[in-house]
Amino acid sequence: MTCAEAQELITALVDRELLDPERSSLELHLQECAGCRLALEQEQALKQAIRGAGQRIRAPSDLRHKIVSDQRIFPDKSRSARRWRHYFWPMPQLAHPALAAVLLAIAILTVFLLKPRNQPVAIAALETYDLFLRGHLSVRRTENADQIVEELTRAVGGDFHPMGYNLTAMNLRPVAGLVREIDGRKILVAIYQGPGGSLFCYTFLGSAEDAPPNAARFFDAAKKIDFYAFSRGGVNAVLHREGGVICILASEMPMEKLLALAQSKAKQS
Ligand SMILES: [Zn+2]
Repeated sequence: MTCAEAQELITALVDRELLDPERSSLELHLQECAGCRLALEQEQALKQAIRGAGQRIRAPSDLRHKIVSDQRIFPDKSRSARRWRHYFWPMPQLAHPALAAVLLAIAILTVFLLKPRNQPVAIAALETYDLFLRGHLSVRRTENADQIVEELTRAVGGDFHPMGYNLTAMNLRPVAGLVREIDGRKILVAIYQGPGGSLFCYTFLGSAEDAPPNAARFFDAAKKIDFYAFSRGGVNAVLHREGGVICILASEMPMEKLLALAQSKAKQS
């Protein structure tokens, strides 16, 4: 089962609507795939939040009264109207509060579903780190840095270029490049590896708004660039902006080291 197939079935699993054999093959995939486990946790958290909110929120009695007495929802109380209503709706006394409750539930669900639940693109991009190290991403490996830059640039029609860093001084060699599409945005990923570990360099079109809200901000006065540091699942990341392009370096190396690297490589736009 691929990740795309798994993610399509996750909602059904959370809703207990998934039957074998799909259920067991999804569970097998989840045992092996951290990315899809994360998606499952998010889906469960969302469901929990909706359920919790439904229990916490009680409509104030004047709102209930307003809904129940709203002519547009429950038309007219005149005699003829009531007769018709009896004809279509044999138990008006029972149905009214039930319908009001349903309307209220729909209103609550709408509020929750309209709320953007997508995580920042920077966090979503980091999932490729774990996926790649686990061998879940199919990439063409090459140690040719120019080739990686060229292929990634071609993938976005030359709109922007990946950060083609030379990191041999840190004993890191380019090993692969890949393109991920998150929320309709193409994310270029250049992957470096060496005896000391891995470094991922993400490049995409964006703004400082793409930094996760809880990231720590550092201002480099010499370069006049803001750097945003954040971590996710043991992976440290440093984001900065060069013109309309966002660059994120991600690695398991210590945050100070990663920040120093990002500062040394960043170019003032
Ligand atoms: Zn997966």
